[in-house]
Amino acid sequence: MSSSDVREVIIIGGGPAGYTAALYTARANMHPLAFEGFNWGGQLMITSEVENYPGYPEGRDGPSMMTDFRAQAERFGAEFVTDDVTKVDFSERPFRVWVGKDEFRAETVIVATGANARQIGLESEQKLQGRGVSYCATCDAAFFRDLTAVVVGGGDTAMEEATFLTRFASKVYLVHRRDEFRASAVMVDRAERDPKIEFVLNSHVVEVLGVDGGKMTGVMLEDTQTGERRALTADGLFVAIGHDPTTALFVDSLDHDENGYLVTKPGSSHTNIPGVFAVGDVQDHIYRQAITAAGSGCMGALDAERFLAAQAQEAAQQA
Ligand code: NAP
Repeated sequence: MSSSDVREVIIIGGGPAGYTAALYTARANMHPLAFEGFNWGGQLMITSEVENYPGYPEGRDGPSMMTDFRAQAERFGAEFVTDDVTKVDFSERPFRVWVGKDEFRAETVIVATGANARQIGLESEQKLQGRGVSYCATCDAAFFRDLTAVVVGGGDTAMEEATFLTRFASKVYLVHRRDEFRASAVMVDRAERDPKIEFVLNSHVVEVLGVDGGKMTGVMLEDTQTGERRALTADGLFVAIGHDPTTALFVDSLDHDENGYLVTKPGSSHTNIPGVFAVGDVQDHIYRQAITAAGSGCMGALDAERFLAAQAQEAAQQA
């Protein structure tokens, strides 16, 4: 589907941010071409129930919600390519984007490639995703009212998630592979002082239990010093070992922080390259919610529209 046409806007990424950018740019008559990725839908595709997205009073499962987002953008003419972008060239306008050998060009690009929660890497973890295993306490803690949860990690996210979970869970085990924390002292203190939280240090989760029944029943822990194993009964596992932004394609051309997150000008979606915008989790390591990603996608669309309008005005003045 290579094209010699120069599009007004290309969107890279198909999660809440990318689909919202597609919806807004389509409704602005910008005829967006959106590369939603081979695994379209983003992080919500592994979320069984979304209860915190306004407008869905009964909640909605993540994949259905993303299908709705996509359909809404398509209704207004957004075109989707269900494939991964393999190369970009932002050195001059029109910008160029490739999928394999196929080349596409556009006056603006909105990057919405998101981030992925790091996984422990266990087969049982994969099988029980959405069936006890979660990567977001803000999203899923409420499902663990009066239940027992395990949080894995020793950074600020793990401390924050463990503390947040105590609003619902009756008991929270915080499992960390060392006995020192990456998290700030104040957050460790708060977790340590919470009577519902019990620290389990120098330990790894080596198995999530319950695969046969299709629902998590606990975790198998291994002591990192003695190698001893023991089973811990629990209803939920919150993996909080960090996130990786999907930025490999852009690190050479777009400004990013030390963790790879793209840097945008405060209060906007502008990157260091005029005409290239970044939205959603690829530039947000703080909020990371579907609703904030969608809002950010809207900002990217409006910024791209205004950028093109300003360019057109400049060209008219020079003519
Ligand atoms: P992080 O600081 O990178 O911490 C990740 C933690 O997970 C580390 O303790 C690490 O252990 C552990 N870990 C990594 N891979 C693991 C594995 N395969 N198995 C078991 N444990 C593993 O990530 P984060 O906590 O998500 O924080 C990311 C950034 O956001 C940080 O800059 C943080 O300060 C910030 N943040 C701030 C706040 C706040 O201020 N309210 C809240 C959340 C996050 P090791 O320590 O042994 O490497």
